[in-house]
Amino acid sequence: MFLPDAAAKAEYKDVWVFAEQSHGWIHPVAFELLGEGRRLAADLGVRLCAVLVGSDTGAMARELGERGADRVIVADLPELAEFQDERYAAVIVEAVRREKSQILLCGATPLGRSLCSRIAVTLGTGLTADCTALAIDSETRDLLQTRPAFGGNLMATIRTPDHRPQMATVRPKVMREAPATPGRAFETEMLDIAADILRARTERLSFEPAAAGGVNLAEANVIVSGGRGLQKPENFTLVRDLADALGGAVGASRAAVDAGWIPYEHQVGQTGRTVCPKLYVACGISGQIQHLVGMASSDVIVAINKDRDAPIFQHATYGIVGDALVILPLLTKAFREMSKAVDSPR
Ligand code: FAD
Repeated sequence: MFLPDAAAKAEYKDVWVFAEQSHGWIHPVAFELLGEGRRLAADLGVRLCAVLVGSDTGAMARELGERGADRVIVADLPELAEFQDERYAAVIVEAVRREKSQILLCGATPLGRSLCSRIAVTLGTGLTADCTALAIDSETRDLLQTRPAFGGNLMATIRTPDHRPQMATVRPKVMREAPATPGRAFETEMLDIAADILRARTERLSFEPAAAGGVNLAEANVIVSGGRGLQKPENFTLVRDLADALGGAVGASRAAVDAGWIPYEHQVGQTGRTVCPKLYVACGISGQIQHLVGMASSDVIVAINKDRDAPIFQHATYGIVGDALVILPLLTKAFREMSKAVDSPR
């Protein structure tokens, strides 16, 4: 909504997080947004609310309260059991109109992207997609929405000064999850949804899960990634061997993917997957911004690069300056021996 005057804008108060869920499972990005939303709400001195749309939502509402929502706004109806963008968007638009949230955050997942664009268009407000950082401007109290721009060559900070709510989607795994506090007190608000809001032009016929056996970089705790520094496709075996020894998955830079050394589903970065493993090993990867935005929030980053001035070392927890083709087999051997020693103690 276009609201150029301050008094009208001031009616829009709380920070909202859309809690994406499927059959009782809340997508972890909702917990990441609650972590970030808590900081934004504290800076603004307002409440943090989670918006939950579905059916049989009681346990999920509790989980959201335990993860830091002061208030959980719930639309719970059998017709909302499965995600349908028209219906879900109509419900959230109605809730925003009634309750007037000043910020609405959503995961930049396929579902979130589809939902948020509908909501923003219907409400006539702005939407910044794929944010990697959020903050409050201390002077104007506007939301500062930062995302890679111009092919990732610079970071742009965008604001929505004259429209409410301020909407942003945020990439999964970029922000830290809010911790759970069992038994934490929170309010629940059950929304009354009129039948005409649920009218939709589309009908959900069935759900076909993706074929099993694909690469699940998003869920991996350990990722070993290779870049152009591996020099030829056969050398990816060295990366695979270390990943196997560590029980991890194989990632890659775009340069390696573009060279046809490894399929796209392994690509980490701005145009690939965003990952947040406990351990990320970057082998022969220079550390360009487009790669970093996909992995910089990993807990521990180990970089192997023969150029001691490679930018990746500025982001690495541990750096090994040397030839990855020599170092990778040594690490694999050492980890295999360690795991053998653990499996067969004397
Ligand atoms: P290089 O930059 O060529 O680096 C190779 C590194 O290997 C060097 O640092 C070199 O010192 C080192 N090296 C060489 N030989 C050895 C050796 N034997 N042992 C150890 N080290 C060695 N990139 C991504 O990764 N993911 C993305 O999603 C992505 N999206 C992009 C989107 C856009 C719009 C654009 C414009 C670019 C994108 N890129 C992305 C590309 C990105 O800018 C870089 O070109 C790319 O990340 C470089 O890959 P690299 O580090 O493997 O190769």
